[in-house]
Amino acid sequence: MRLTRVHVEAVLTPGAIVELPRETASHVAKVLRARSGDPLILFSGDGREYAGSVESVRGSRVTASVGNGADVDRESPFAITLVQCVPRGDRMDFIVQKATELGVTRIVPVLSQRSVVRLDAVQAESKTAHWRAVVVNACEQCGRNRLPTIEAPAPLIEYLGSSAAASATPRSARFVLEPDVEAAAAPSAPETAAQIAVGPEGGFGDEELDAFRLAGFLRLRLGPRILRTETAAIAALTWLQTRFGDMVAATRNTRTDSQQT
Ligand code: SAH
Repeated sequence: MRLTRVHVEAVLTPGAIVELPRETASHVAKVLRARSGDPLILFSGDGREYAGSVESVRGSRVTASVGNGADVDRESPFAITLVQCVPRGDRMDFIVQKATELGVTRIVPVLSQRSVVRLDAVQAESKTAHWRAVVVNACEQCGRNRLPTIEAPAPLIEYLGSSAAASATPRSARFVLEPDVEAAAAPSAPETAAQIAVGPEGGFGDEELDAFRLAGFLRLRLGPRILRTETAAIAALTWLQTRFGDMVAATRNTRTDSQQT
């Protein structure tokens, strides 16, 4: 069985004892019924993972001892920023989770003209904290030892006017996903990084598409069907990782050598 991976917000040094975060601890204690001595993998986001073991379980408080660390790199060489219009309900959680699994480097939640969601400062802050927890959880599950950044939600036009959108590294491609593109050319030249913007349920407005153009974004269409915003984000990330990143399919005969005649 795969070992439980736990993210700990602390500098991990072999020999140290760390307290597991409250929610993880409760899961480890109550669901996994961990006991002292049970092995775990600990990571803090520094790019290493550490062999660990449960030190003590007291109610739902769990401590673990930190063993040796090793560099384990599951990061894509292709850095992707997902500029995602926040959809209704909990679909953003789904997008944040899937984007993390698909190796995104940075997520910028934005609110656009046609976004149904409106967030005041307090809601924005609590959403950001919640999405960060979703990122951490997805990293625990998918094996990443570096956490993608999740930014605080900002109005789309503000983001496009900021230097973050326009002056990314010179070899960074910028795409705005738009189903309504005719006679477009296939994107060329492998790049080292990309930004990809996905619209809300109602799509982008004309002024927004103009602002994207001014910020150097190319319109990108992913096939003839209209995808829901969450499908579009997943499809775009899959396409980018397959084309420029580390999504490489590998296959092997399911029969072992000894079974072969
Ligand atoms: N009613 C909207 C559709 C919005 S779909 C319209 O007609 O424009 C939500 C978002 O998903 C879009 O804004 C776009 O960013 C993305 N999207 C959906 N289907 C797509 C496709 N086939 N190609 C590129 N982007 C797509």
